[in-house]
Amino acid sequence: MALVNPDFVEEVKRSGRFDASACMNCGVCSAVCPMGIELLPRKLFRYVLLGVKDRVLENVETIYSCLLCRLCEVNCPAQVHIAENVRFLRCYMNKKVFKI
Ligand code: SF4
Ligand code: SF4
Repeated sequence: MALVNPDFVEEVKRSGRFDASACMNCGVCSAVCPMGIELLPRKLFRYVLLGVKDRVLENVETIYSCLLCRLCEVNCPAQVHIAENVRFLRCYMNKKVFKI
């Protein structure tokens, strides 16, 4: 069951390192991604913004499969900083989930 977690939303905001609010779900990022990552910016980033932490944690494999090549980012019409957002999510996972 997906639940909104307000603490997670606050934590993400406080970090100042995650911003995907300009995403308009156009699909360009998915179309150009060499890894065929469909979910990452369009859906997963939305889960982060909404605080649906369980869904974010369920998709840890997607977060780590990104190459950080920024091909999506340079083509994004909304200039979403996709790679930096992914880096933030990895740091979050490393600290909070894997405790490293
Ligand atoms: S290309 Fe940019 S605006 Fe379009 S879905 Fe991806 S992140 Fe959102
Ligand atoms: S940075 Fe990640 S999500 Fe973006 S195109 Fe490269 S592999 Fe795909």
